[in-house]
Amino acid sequence: MCYCSNEAPFQQCCEPFISGAESPKTAEQLMRSRYSAYVVKNAQYIRETYAKEEQKHHSVEDILAFASAVDFISLEILSASDAADGSIVEFQATYITENKVCVLHERSNFILEAGLWKYLDGHIYPTPEIKLGRNDECPCGSGKKFKKCHST
Ligand SMILES: [Zn+2]
Ligand SMILES: [Zn+2]
Repeated sequence: MCYCSNEAPFQQCCEPFISGAESPKTAEQLMRSRYSAYVVKNAQYIRETYAKEEQKHHSVEDILAFASAVDFISLEILSASDAADGSIVEFQATYITENKVCVLHERSNFILEAGLWKYLDGHIYPTPEIKLGRNDECPCGSGKKFKKCHST
């Protein structure tokens, strides 16, 4: 299973995009590969897949700091619509940070620049944060207690 929750293994799903061997053909593929890039902490790829006008607002250092502060555990694509000039992907990405489980629920806009899908911006919906107890089952699906798994 890929980090992005697809059945295919990482090497056949998101990795070819992150390594540059292939280009995502849809906004959803780009979105999934950006999620997986956060998991493998490839900040360079995340920066390069922002739309050009957005890249100056996102340094590799900032992206890396965020990727290092969170543990993404699952991705769910709620909807994806591809059009020739722009696409919208709505998703929920679940992550653990500072002993809380949080959900990033975003409706993202993607555009084509020189034939390549890029992330432009998004609307983030408010979501509750759930504090994890040390003896709770870890939400990552390992089956271990939280204190023996993703606790900090
Ligand atoms: Zn993937
Ligand atoms: Zn865990």
